[in-house]
Amino acid sequence: MAAKQQTVPSLTLTCLLSTILLQTCRTFAGELKWDENGYVLYCPCMGRFGNQADHFLGSLAFAKMLNRTLAVPPWIVYRHHTPPYTNVHVSYSEFFQLEPLSAYHRVVSLEDFMEKLAPKHWPTGQRKAYCFETAAQRSADKKSCPMKDGNPFGPFWNYAGVEFDESVLFGGISFSAYYQPQWMMKFPPSEHPVLAMPGAPAQFPVIEEHVGLQRYMVWSHKMVKEGEEHISTLLTRPYVGIHLRIGIDWQNACKLLKSGDAGPHFMASPQCVGYNRQTALPLTMTMCLPDLSEIRRAVKLWVKKTSARSIYIATDSESHSREIEKLFKGKVKVISLQPDSAQMDLYILGRANHFIGNCVSSFSAFVKRERDVQRLPSSFFGMDKPGKVNQKEEL
Ligand code: GDP
Ligand code: MN
Repeated sequence: MAAKQQTVPSLTLTCLLSTILLQTCRTFAGELKWDENGYVLYCPCMGRFGNQADHFLGSLAFAKMLNRTLAVPPWIVYRHHTPPYTNVHVSYSEFFQLEPLSAYHRVVSLEDFMEKLAPKHWPTGQRKAYCFETAAQRSADKKSCPMKDGNPFGPFWNYAGVEFDESVLFGGISFSAYYQPQWMMKFPPSEHPVLAMPGAPAQFPVIEEHVGLQRYMVWSHKMVKEGEEHISTLLTRPYVGIHLRIGIDWQNACKLLKSGDAGPHFMASPQCVGYNRQTALPLTMTMCLPDLSEIRRAVKLWVKKTSARSIYIATDSESHSREIEKLFKGKVKVISLQPDSAQMDLYILGRANHFIGNCVSSFSAFVKRERDVQRLPSSFFGMDKPGKVNQKEEL
């Protein structure tokens, strides 16, 4: 007993020191050390990359609020038009570095959690799912969390190698900071070491307080290397990067604005109209779905303002590169790479001398947040001067 009492503080100290030095919490043997404060696990089961990234920032803040380690999930990439025609789970660290996250809060990849910690500390047979009572209402017995029902839920937890044994329901609380004491009281880590949830414990879009957490999302070395190679071979600086979100799914989404009673807040729009509903700038149809004349206008304006020598077009469908090229009579190089991975577009847009995004798109929002962190200028189609968003960092 006495020996144990001695090893606990020394391990804690080792962990603390290595957290400072290596920004990771490991024992001498290089094994991951179990966090007695518990873990948060979730499936990024809503939307594609932009939505998942918004949810990631909120979930990171939620884990910190509960002082639990966040098990960082992989990105779910939907490949329904190219082989293997199913969801692909791409580890967080393929695109971003895990280490910089630890400057904000303790994290472990979900893969490492499952491989190195779960067998001993969260064994099969003791895996509880946590969800809202309302979510459980959808299950047959009305008491089970719908953890693996349908796509992407089932494939995600199968990828992680998890079957759930029991459900714990909650209600009357939300993920906001206001409920922190209730979360702590309801789910002390001694009794509830692993909070595994069917969705992100976060809001969409990311709330204003958490926008600045973007600074902890740092591109992986592989992404930087490939991205910089593309930029130096394809583009001449200064370059303007534009995001065209104009495909059929977006045309349908923007139709919801036509009725006019949607208000200024629609999907990611707080990023440009402002978070405060009272002072928010109006959201127009052009901002949601810029037509070719608006695309021409904005591109011309910012190419002139920045004396750009090239333009990078990222698009969900058409690039309009011919039409844009014509604007400058061949004097400005126009590039649309249409890369295999959407993240490469994000990287290149993030590094542009000026960025024109889509206010309503969370894909654009990722680029805007990153550029704000780097103090690089951005505007939106239909809005040359976006409203100010507080980028204060939550500590
Ligand atoms: P949102 O729907 O615009 O809020 O953003 P999401 O990221 O949630 O969903 C849009 C998805 O469409 C992205 O994740 C990409 O897979 C794809 N997409 C949209 N715009 C682009 C683009 O400019 N380039 C690439 N490569 N993919 C895009
Ligand atoms: Mn979407």
